[in-house]
Amino acid sequence: VLTGAGLSAPSGIPTYRDQAGNWLRGSPIQHREFLTEPSARQRYWSRSLVGWPVIASAQPNDAHRALAALERAGHIDLLVTQNVDRLHQRAGSHRVVDLHGRLDRVQCLSCGAAIGRDVIQRELERDNPALLQLGGALRPDGDADLADCQLAAVIAPHCRACNGIVMPDVVFFGGTVPHERVARVNEAVAAADALLVVGSSLKVFSGFRFCRLAARLGKPIAIINPGPTRADDLAVLRIAQCAERVLPALAARLYQDTSADAPPAPTPSLFNNAP
Ligand SMILES: [Zn+2]
Repeated sequence: VLTGAGLSAPSGIPTYRDQAGNWLRGSPIQHREFLTEPSARQRYWSRSLVGWPVIASAQPNDAHRALAALERAGHIDLLVTQNVDRLHQRAGSHRVVDLHGRLDRVQCLSCGAAIGRDVIQRELERDNPALLQLGGALRPDGDADLADCQLAAVIAPHCRACNGIVMPDVVFFGGTVPHERVARVNEAVAAADALLVVGSSLKVFSGFRFCRLAARLGKPIAIINPGPTRADDLAVLRIAQCAERVLPALAARLYQDTSADAPPAPTPSLFNNAP
């Protein structure tokens, strides 16, 4: 299963985020830019200061829970997500590849230290009280970007151990998905009976390439997404619906079809929104 931003939209995470967790209505920050330009890091962290609490407080929805139930029932070998919010794991999925990384972790680019995003949040708030005072003016969707003079005053977080540059553990625009991550997904596609794409228009090549691989290997592709996707021509089944409606119904149907050694039925709340 390959999932995208449409899965997390009902959890209150807007779909206009890019794969690095940036807000798209401001210009997305490029990988190289983040590494080389202090102002890009100041821009990233000022947005992230207000964006992170939205992610941190988001809860998994029925689509996440249905996929976790399908994994428990043995229907899913691997779940690959383009989302960086960790909601699949929090819903109970275990076999997950975070294709574009995870926003809850930050890494020092010098010494490799791993730092929790919550720790960084406390530092950002402590070091940038003026940003917090901007309140509603600084919105997480980047609508109101900071003026240059305000941006120059932003204190970006650094590694406590070595004072190195820290970066969220996510793949920015212009960055590359680690090779071993891609290799693991390629193996899973090769071993799978089929590929199910959920909640993604597959605009980003890093996800679309697995559809191309599945098609090349003759694996059937099914897509659940309200809008058109880049892989529509490759799919044998297209369901133009929201995942949080279709997936609980699918999970329920598969439970009904399972014989006496079936796993315990999922909680009734899973079916509340079934069409
Ligand atoms: Zn360090």
